[in-house]
Amino acid sequence: MTTKKQQKNAVYFLDQISHRFPDAKIELKYDEKDPWQLLVAVVLSAQSTDVGVNKVTPRLFARFKNVQAFAKAESGQVEPFIQSLGFFRNKAKSLVAAARKVVADFQGAVPGDREKLEQIPGVGPKSAAVIMANAFGEPAIAVDTHVGRIARRLGLTKQKDPSKVEIELEKLLPKARWIEAHHAFIWHGRRICVARKPCCTQCPVTERCPRVGVTVFA
Ligand code: SF4
Repeated sequence: MTTKKQQKNAVYFLDQISHRFPDAKIELKYDEKDPWQLLVAVVLSAQSTDVGVNKVTPRLFARFKNVQAFAKAESGQVEPFIQSLGFFRNKAKSLVAAARKVVADFQGAVPGDREKLEQIPGVGPKSAAVIMANAFGEPAIAVDTHVGRIARRLGLTKQKDPSKVEIELEKLLPKARWIEAHHAFIWHGRRICVARKPCCTQCPVTERCPRVGVTVFA
């Protein structure tokens, strides 16, 4: 059972972190009018940095201009464009399979429906949440490594499973702030509360953080 006190505490943390990062937003680059490009970037970002993904997507999208072009390709044709990324062979296979699924089952349009998104090869629950929030403006807290770590360090959850963390965060924070929380926590996790040796002296929630001074990956 989530108490009002716990909710107030979570909102306090979000207020402070959002105040520090008022411009927090997705750092993958894509055409905001094209959910397919976002899906591609999100699939590529697994086990890779957004910076690395942003380096390869301009050439990739210039060569394969839309979902139909990806669907007609063989994965071997996609591989050279993404070979600087980890697991590029698997990612190339996923992108081609995803494009074929979108073309065959969704009339070539990425669906704005979480269950349908999760049917697309390469798109798991976290990716689906990122796409729903950023392409369709649907409230969701996608829990990646940063969001999970911040939520645990701030004492907002003890869960390790991202889906369970998501459910707990959604109980603690108002729905209207879920997308904001996702971005704010990621920025906080990348810039201050990093996995090893977080910069607690520069942190906006030092006074109330139960893990201030933590030095281990947790
Ligand atoms: S005080 Fe330190 S451990 Fe706590 S949220 Fe801030 S940076 Fe992270």
